[in-house]
Amino acid sequence: MERLDKGIDERIVAAFEKVSQVSRILLWEAASAEKLSPIQLQFLLHIAGSPEELRRVGAIAKEFDLTPATVSDAVSSLESKGLIDKESSAEDRRSVVLSLTREGRKTVQAVGKWKDTMIQAVGSFPDEQKNVVMGFLSGFISSLFDRGVLSSARMCMACGNMRVVDDARGMRYECGITGRRFDAAGVMMGCADHSPRG
Ligand code: SF4
Repeated sequence: MERLDKGIDERIVAAFEKVSQVSRILLWEAASAEKLSPIQLQFLLHIAGSPEELRRVGAIAKEFDLTPATVSDAVSSLESKGLIDKESSAEDRRSVVLSLTREGRKTVQAVGKWKDTMIQAVGSFPDEQKNVVMGFLSGFISSLFDRGVLSSARMCMACGNMRVVDDARGMRYECGITGRRFDAAGVMMGCADHSPRG
């Protein structure tokens, strides 16, 4: 039986577990509908939305905190289903880059709305609350990254393109790629243009 007097820290982590469980269920349902495993579907979605340098087996392994062998198994399975192709990189012919086949693009389109239920639920809350939550989450994920729990967050706080600026609205951040200025609530996660800090 769970203790009833948990502190706020434990209750927040328990809430994360519950959200994560919902996410897993929705992903599992979407993947099952296409006769894929959840991780295969995540790889397809990643390949669909990533630039070339993030579509290599090593980069995918880092992104999902998996071993290259595990990624290779899933990639072979996706290839045998006709959903992805392996191509040589334009920059380095020895390097293999993954891309979606026509069938793969159709599958991604079919499952593209798997997060909609959660997005709609989030959308029902006022912006002030969402900004506070986003600020907390970006700090929390950044902290996990600093502790070595996450090997890749691809978020602004760990990005070489981000700089701190002091403008009329106080200390904020600026993206060197887009020029967008933002505070903690505007931090991007899983950004395709992220560049690890040197
Ligand atoms: S490139 Fe992406 S991760 Fe880096 S600062 Fe800009 S928005 Fe943030």
